[in-house]
Amino acid sequence: MSYVDEVLAKVREKNSAEPEFLQAVDEVLNSLRPVIEANEEEYKKQALLERICEPERQFKFRVPWVDDNGQVQVNTGYRVQFNSAIGPYKGGLRLHPSVNIGIIKFLGFEQIFKNSLTGLPIGGGKGGSDFDPKGKSDREVMAFCQSFMTELCKYIGADTDVPAGDIGTGAREIGFMFGQYKRIKGLYEGVLTGKGLTYGGSLARTEATGYGLLYLTDEMLKSNGIDIKGKTICVSGAGNVAIYATQKAQQLGAKVVTVSDSTGWIYDSEGIDVELLREVKEVKRARLTEYAAQRSSAVYHDKKAEGTNVWSIKCDIALPCATQNELNLEDAKALVANGCKAVAEGANMPTTLDATKYLQENGVLFAPGKAANAGGVATSALEMSQNSERLSWTFEEVDSKLKNIMVNIFHNLDDAAKRYGFEGDYVVGANIAGFEKVANAMLAQGVV
Ligand code: NDP
Repeated sequence: MSYVDEVLAKVREKNSAEPEFLQAVDEVLNSLRPVIEANEEEYKKQALLERICEPERQFKFRVPWVDDNGQVQVNTGYRVQFNSAIGPYKGGLRLHPSVNIGIIKFLGFEQIFKNSLTGLPIGGGKGGSDFDPKGKSDREVMAFCQSFMTELCKYIGADTDVPAGDIGTGAREIGFMFGQYKRIKGLYEGVLTGKGLTYGGSLARTEATGYGLLYLTDEMLKSNGIDIKGKTICVSGAGNVAIYATQKAQQLGAKVVTVSDSTGWIYDSEGIDVELLREVKEVKRARLTEYAAQRSSAVYHDKKAEGTNVWSIKCDIALPCATQNELNLEDAKALVANGCKAVAEGANMPTTLDATKYLQENGVLFAPGKAANAGGVATSALEMSQNSERLSWTFEEVDSKLKNIMVNIFHNLDDAAKRYGFEGDYVVGANIAGFEKVANAMLAQGVV
């Protein structure tokens, strides 16, 4: 049995109740086979893969808080500090009822390679809770965030572990958490990123994941002789990533015709009106039905009632920006049948393994999330740099650094794929490029 198969079997046995984590490990280790086979003896002796698949540390804690009726509620909090070989742990906090340890581990594992790909000195971590901010009052969200941080603050710090936003954790939640950290620790430091601009946040951080997704997509298309201008794009999601991906796509001359949320999706023949979308989702925190009610060119589709989704719409480029496993084999077949040329993942692991394979086999350019959505964490690292030097850079400075980073990521993964004889396979390229740096750092640091 090869070393990769041996480790995969061990990881499956040990984590059998964590399907998303197993899916992520499966995808990464399988695509690393060429590098691992070239170094099999040393890696095996050093148990490098076993170490890389085992978090350095993980915390699970009780988060009690009081709701507006005076009732005590209890949620579970998590922080997984996965790998610190190349820098302090860095990765977001997800607040969603679906959160469990397997999901946090899958996200933390992906984060190791994503952070490495940015070229910046950040390790991999992730956290969150099964708390659902949806439908809660600001006071309830604050009560939860303060309780969550009261425990989390014991394990994080500007030079050890720097959490950020993710699904359900936006500027409001980061603000409440930062306030509580400062109050307990008495430290005004860059312990969280995604902060508000008046207290240490970076310009362009809000836009970074979506903008970065488009910078990388544009570079991938260009290097395959395709101009993004005039192309039709389907976006899923209607949150932070989806909104700014839509905005940048339109700035680059493409037309985005769909967005979605957890209950339904919009087809807008005139192209999505980003300002209206922001008003509905960011300000009113309302459903997409509200968007359709205010725009005559938009048609709302109820996901449950119709059993349809945005991938049924004809497009040149698909950008899944909502959540994991939202684009399956059936969706991939519909995209290919409709002539889709490229898929780039704004969300983390939105495409199932069989769908990714089908897309690649059918000549669709495929940019995996760990590369395509790395602009968020890269800009978070730029926020850390600004906090350390107690300076703020302009929007243009941050945006141009972000663009450079995304263009470099694309060329690094493209080169890595070519080096190992997998030209055009950006999944393999991203995993190899991300892995090599972490592996070298781990070997250099000894058995820790
Ligand atoms: P938001 O919470 O801002 O938005 C998430 C969007 O996806 C919402 O429209 C939400 O619908 C929808 N959604 C969430 N869960 C589900 C579900 N189970 N089924 C269907 N739709 C769902 O999150 P972000 O935009 O920040 O994150 C989106 C993805 O991008 C995630 O995978 C995240 O990990 C990834 N990511 C985010 C980064 C960032 O900087 N924000 C950085 C890198 C990756 P509804 O409005 O109904 O809640």
